[in-house]
Amino acid sequence: MSILVVGSVALDSVETPFGKAQEVLGGSGTYFSTSASYFTDVNLVAVIGNDFPAGHLDFLRSRQVNLDGLTVADGKTFRWSGSYGYDLNEAHTLDTQLNVFASFKPQLPPHYCDAEYVFLANIDPELQLEVLQQVVRPKLVACDTMNFWIQGKKDALLRTLKYVDILLINEGEVRQLAGEPNTVKAARAVLAMGPKTLVVKQGEYGAVMFTEKGVFSAPAYPLESVYDPTGAGDTFAGGFMGYLASVRDLSEAAMRKAIVFGSVMASFNVEAFSLDRMRTLKIEEVHERYRMFQLLTEFSGID
Ligand code: AMP
Repeated sequence: MSILVVGSVALDSVETPFGKAQEVLGGSGTYFSTSASYFTDVNLVAVIGNDFPAGHLDFLRSRQVNLDGLTVADGKTFRWSGSYGYDLNEAHTLDTQLNVFASFKPQLPPHYCDAEYVFLANIDPELQLEVLQQVVRPKLVACDTMNFWIQGKKDALLRTLKYVDILLINEGEVRQLAGEPNTVKAARAVLAMGPKTLVVKQGEYGAVMFTEKGVFSAPAYPLESVYDPTGAGDTFAGGFMGYLASVRDLSEAAMRKAIVFGSVMASFNVEAFSLDRMRTLKIEEVHERYRMFQLLTEFSGID
């Protein structure tokens, strides 16, 4: 089952304690699509400027990402620059230039409108809703956002959240959205805003899923080499949604496995700058690391 995603396609400039990269391929839509493409077909809705390097489109095509919904507009591509200190869990945004995204009015190609699985990747919540309203009968709607939109477009975000089944955001964003310092209480408050499920991403500490029924927690894969955490959240979401769409199962058991596939994909992505690790990643490596995860968290039946 294919996934429809709207999100940013960007040129990123990133600095971490281990190096820097200038104007490299990035964007929430890009990371999500690439990651989800390991599990299912992906239809991407986004806009790029006429300065966007053709080689980046070739890369997305090589991952079989459908680009019929990608508009090329007259102007400059979305740009983001950020830095990380030794605490790689926290990105410091230095600059956000919406450029062609500022005036983007998405018109979905007709064959995108019957999507069952929809992912609203981190982008203007008004745009997220505009895309969602063009989908006839979505079966599962998941969404990501960030401090930039929680602060700048909270009303629009709250409107979008009413139509969202699963919200995936990081811990600081949960607290910011709820205006509540305790994560568990903040999670309850967010669940009252619309989503039935909240996945709280905790960077190198893993992810916690909150539903009305309870809580599930999974660690992150312990890695020795982390170079660039940019896109980890979007890559996590790609593995999570990609797995769910591939098995067409929304049971608690499937959601738990999806969290682990999300963590697996994110763990690969942070091993190199931009999407460079995804250029060589094989599906066999994904399944091998999934098995390592099972061993990592096994505690019953071991003497
Ligand atoms: P993540 O590290 O998963 O939170 O996502 C990082 C990606 O999000 C980068 O590649 C950026 O291009 C993109 N990004 C950063 N800020 C924004 C924003 N305000 N709207 C949309 N995408 C953004």
